[in-house]
Amino acid sequence: MEIPKKVEYIIEELGNNGFEAFAVGGCVRDTILGRNPQDWDVTTSASPMDVKRIFKRTIDTGIQHGTVTVMLDKEGFEITTYRIDGEYEDSRHPKEVTFTTNLTEDLKRRDFTINAMAYNPKSGIVDEFGGIEDLNNKIIRCVGVAKERFMEDALRILRAVRFSAQLGFEIEAETREAAKELAPTLKKISRERIQSELSKLVVSPHPDYVKELDNLSLNENIFEDRIIINEYTLRMLLVVRNDKVLRWTALLQEESTAERAKEILRGLKFDNYTINHVSRLTKWLRTEIAPDKASVRHAINQIGEDIFALLLEAKKAFYESMPYLPVKAGVYGIEEAEKADKLKLLEDVKGLYESVIENGDCVSLKQLAVGGNDIIKAGLAKGQGIGELLEYLLDIVLDDPTENERENLLRRAKEYKEV
Ligand code: ATP
Ligand code: MG
Repeated sequence: MEIPKKVEYIIEELGNNGFEAFAVGGCVRDTILGRNPQDWDVTTSASPMDVKRIFKRTIDTGIQHGTVTVMLDKEGFEITTYRIDGEYEDSRHPKEVTFTTNLTEDLKRRDFTINAMAYNPKSGIVDEFGGIEDLNNKIIRCVGVAKERFMEDALRILRAVRFSAQLGFEIEAETREAAKELAPTLKKISRERIQSELSKLVVSPHPDYVKELDNLSLNENIFEDRIIINEYTLRMLLVVRNDKVLRWTALLQEESTAERAKEILRGLKFDNYTINHVSRLTKWLRTEIAPDKASVRHAINQIGEDIFALLLEAKKAFYESMPYLPVKAGVYGIEEAEKADKLKLLEDVKGLYESVIENGDCVSLKQLAVGGNDIIKAGLAKGQGIGELLEYLLDIVLDDPTENERENLLRRAKEYKEV
């Protein structure tokens, strides 16, 4: 197994000081699979204090859990002391962690066999729980008794689905049974941790594995009101580009309203950017835009230039994933010709959008040739609000961009006031 020079150096340095150290977890799994690990975690018999003593530059990342980050050049490596997780409270946190000098004890506390392997150049791969076999058979299996492991930390249930979607693996029968049985305990898990695992699932190579949320009764235990995941959802997830906002829009597309999308994402404590973008895309997903320049300019103004291109991408996936008629009851389907029409129309809108942007046509108030100050200076601020007047002018310019000229607009404003 090949490991980066810096990781090798860390393991060697710890060894020189009389401690064991191994690369562990995801990086070992990914390397065996021929995937590029995101980061390299090291597990060691050295205490956090020893690690801090041995390396010049360290950061106390999670010292109470035994994790210190060692900085080499500008790269950070998490070094965690072998540990045994104490009894778990509320399917959430271990009450306390105990450090140990036994690698096997540390591997035992890990979630899945494929995540419980360690490696160092001296000992080779340490695989005490059949991780390699499960990698070969493409299986997600808990270390030890699945039910107990999910009782310790219910997030592992969702992690099982996440890893299965990332790797295209199947969840082993006992692990599956336990997941289903303990699904209600997911209610106790923090929304942030759930969000992180769900997002990894949604942007994975197999986003359609979200159907496991229903198969394993996780849906109703994650969301206050379960989300609708049907054939259509799965198809759109598979068709749409792998982008977090687009994939979440696909997942929530059957929820239909911006308010509902917002509520769901807020519930999962998403960041404002994601909530804003997904809910706006949801809002406009089903809106048809007429293929003429004026309509497209109005649509850009209404929908927002920042998400317009993304919306066209979402709509394309939405149409492409529409099932043809006849379909089962409850699923909306269309004729083949109708779908082709919709896609053609969308292509036309896209072309028009590109030329509008290229021309620099005015599509928002900030591009209007007059502003609030111009209106005041021209003595037109009395009566109707300035905002109303500007909206009136913008409407004219959206219809015809050649109108976007200062004197012309002030004249138009004056006329409007007089009427
Ligand atoms: P990724 O490539 O997504 O980071 P990973 O396997 O590194 O995958 P992490 O969440 O970074 O996953 O966790 C690192 C390792 O820590 C895991 O491989 C696993 O051994 C262990 N681990 C993480 N979370 C848990 C958990 N909730 N319960 C038990 N072990 C866990
Ligand atoms: Mg990791």
